[in-house]
Amino acid sequence: MQFINIHNHNKQCTNLALINLFPEDVAAIEETKFYSVGIHPWEVSKIDIDEQINTIKKAASLKNVLAIGEIGLDKLHSNFDLQKDVFLKQINIAKEVEKPIIIHCVKAFSELLEILKTEKLKIPVIIHRYSGNITIAGELLKFGCYLSFGHELFNTKSKTPKVFKKLPLENIFLETDDAEITIEAVYKKAAEIKNVTVTEINEKILSNFNICF
Ligand SMILES: [Zn+2]
Repeated sequence: MQFINIHNHNKQCTNLALINLFPEDVAAIEETKFYSVGIHPWEVSKIDIDEQINTIKKAASLKNVLAIGEIGLDKLHSNFDLQKDVFLKQINIAKEVEKPIIIHCVKAFSELLEILKTEKLKIPVIIHRYSGNITIAGELLKFGCYLSFGHELFNTKSKTPKVFKKLPLENIFLETDDAEITIEAVYKKAAEIKNVTVTEINEKILSNFNICF
């Protein structure tokens, strides 16, 4: 069985994975693999933004760059206004090439919802490593967002497994991100929480993938 891994940082990954690259790494793009490319909100103050935006514009038109990401907002990091500015610039690129966005959002869900409200996006929106509560999840689902989950599903002290359990399978993806974990293990855990078989969850995510990409 092949498992779709919607977000991971391992350039060697051989699964059906979207390998996330920062603009400075686009030279690593190989024709046989799939990618998301974007400026991470943690990086906005350290980089030449215009130069990296241009790199993303070029990469975005490549056939195997399937999404713009990870992009977004993080309240635990500085330069929030600049983060927002860079986020909006990258949303515009995604709109132009009509490709999905993969979002990193930490403690900034009200700002994200505000952006979703004004942007009225027609492109798929995937929130990776979703960390919010069930109420915010419900708000995001109203905008047709997909929420992706990874190693937090194993954390019994976190609210994430409970949130995941309540969400419709039509709106979820699974990922390894930068965790030392296999995507097979994440699917197994997700199936266990949802009380379905790994095959069922795999088929559902494959269908979500086909809708988005
Ligand atoms: Zn990541």
